[in-house]
Amino acid sequence: MNCIFCKIINKEIPSYTVYEDEIVKVFLDINPDSNGHLLIIPKKHILDISEMDNNTWKSILEITKKMKILLEEKLHIDGLTLIQNNGIVQEVKHFHLHLKPYYKEAQALLPIEDVYEKIKEHE
Ligand code: AMP
Ligand code: ZN
Repeated sequence: MNCIFCKIINKEIPSYTVYEDEIVKVFLDINPDSNGHLLIIPKKHILDISEMDNNTWKSILEITKKMKILLEEKLHIDGLTLIQNNGIVQEVKHFHLHLKPYYKEAQALLPIEDVYEKIKEHE
């Protein structure tokens, strides 16, 4: 299947992965709206909200809460917006939830490598 997010899951395409388990993967959006813009995707290929099952949705919501805490601790975000696009506004046809951070003070966009360095789990 020619799906860019399935390729990311299969590691055919690199990603700045922040978290993963058997059900979901979380990585930095390559074209972020703000520093720490994350995407949460199911590991199985689900097109959009119409195909989403309750168990996978539950996992995504649980991880969303964990990622909010991570963004607060590592990047000191002041707000977070969740966005999930469907139909003509959905560019990548593999379900994904955007986590878009907001900051009280305007912030310049940092290089993605720098954001990743701040946010990734350090050994
Ligand atoms: P949308 O389908 O409109 O909800 O948005 C798709 C999002 O995927 C956009 O914000 C892109 O920047 C992001 N994106 C596309 N390709 C990649 C990639 N290889 N790695 C990370 N994010 C990506
Ligand atoms: Zn896919």
